[in-house]
Amino acid sequence: MSLASGHPYLAIPGPSVMPDAVLRAMHRASPNIYEGELIGMTIGLLPDLRRVARTRHLVAIYIANGHGAWEAALANTVAPGDTVLALATGRFGHGWAKMAGDLGATVEMVDFGKQSPADPARIEAALRADTGHRIKAVLATHVDTSTGILSDMKAVRAAIDAAGHPALLMADCIASLGCDRLEMDAWGIDVAVTASQKGLMTPPGLGFVLFNDRAAAVRAGLDRVSPYWDWTRRADPEFYYEYFGGTAPTHHLYGLRAALDLIHAEGIEAVWARHDTLARAIWAAADVWGEAGALRLNVADPAHRSRAVTSLSLPAPKATELRAWVAANAGVTLGIGLGMAEAADPAWHGYFRIGHMGHVNAHMVLGMLGAIEAGLAALDIAHQAGGISAAAQVIGAA
Ligand SMILES: *Cc1c(COP(=O)(O)O)cnc(C)c1O
Repeated sequence: MSLASGHPYLAIPGPSVMPDAVLRAMHRASPNIYEGELIGMTIGLLPDLRRVARTRHLVAIYIANGHGAWEAALANTVAPGDTVLALATGRFGHGWAKMAGDLGATVEMVDFGKQSPADPARIEAALRADTGHRIKAVLATHVDTSTGILSDMKAVRAAIDAAGHPALLMADCIASLGCDRLEMDAWGIDVAVTASQKGLMTPPGLGFVLFNDRAAAVRAGLDRVSPYWDWTRRADPEFYYEYFGGTAPTHHLYGLRAALDLIHAEGIEAVWARHDTLARAIWAAADVWGEAGALRLNVADPAHRSRAVTSLSLPAPKATELRAWVAANAGVTLGIGLGMAEAADPAWHGYFRIGHMGHVNAHMVLGMLGAIEAGLAALDIAHQAGGISAAAQVIGAA
């Protein structure tokens, strides 16, 4: 007997669950890339992408994953020898900072650890200390997918302004877009970096860089930008063939069209509210389980937790055993504890993550939580029973 047969739930924080509508939209013959339907459809994606990020500014699309979008954003704003202030709340913040360094930037790092959000006071102090305004950009992670920490981008902007500093605010919104509330323009984000395979529910392979006029002016001031990453022509529909620096990512574009239709049919506010309720249901279950035993949410204060991904600890090797059990017995794949400990360290087996981003609803979350509770019981892992009831109450009250 296998209780895992049936529809699987890939509950890792990206790639996320793909809607049938996205898969169907991609199941087609190759379209002509020079004329016809694809051209108008691609141009029509841009306003709908802007609406998800709440911006009226430009968007460049790259055939790349999130790492490619990181590099694209840096290539257009930071020259070798420039300084950036990198804020880290987990592995992804360190990763983007390392990339900036590898591209020749001088990186000043403010590390907030693995359980706390970016602290505006420390950011303001670091910028005030930069009296010569050498820092060109602040690299922030809206949601760090390794830790599940949500940082307040509006507060980061306020810290930059309070210091009277001209640095750009560049935000990694790869995990947050379409899941956690994101208001690019209202919060003063100059450059937002994102990708297709998380809240946008489309296969990995599209990276997006949204940028405002301040960022465009910085790009215009650079002597040389790697031609493939240069956003100037990519963000201008006049140069359609250059939009993708070559052949368009045809099927991804159809998939993205279907995903954006789903998001806007539901309404972005409703999408955020759904993610909020589902996340609170997960946290309620984890809180109850943790009343007896050692299971813990990584981020203590719900205000600093993402609605897209939750990171949890369970003493090694139990987290790994639990992941293996729910995959084998319930058809649910949970995420590894990325960046919480090194893979060679036995403590690595003491963390796991739940992806609850994108095409996820109440019955999937209740089923996934039920699978975890069954696994806790099957593996004799100490926990307080009743997590599922707590989650159901959150959903019932929504
Ligand atoms: C997923 C993710 C990335 C990396 O994206 P890839 O598509 O895997 O390159 C970077 N930052 C954050 C916050 C992410 O969630």
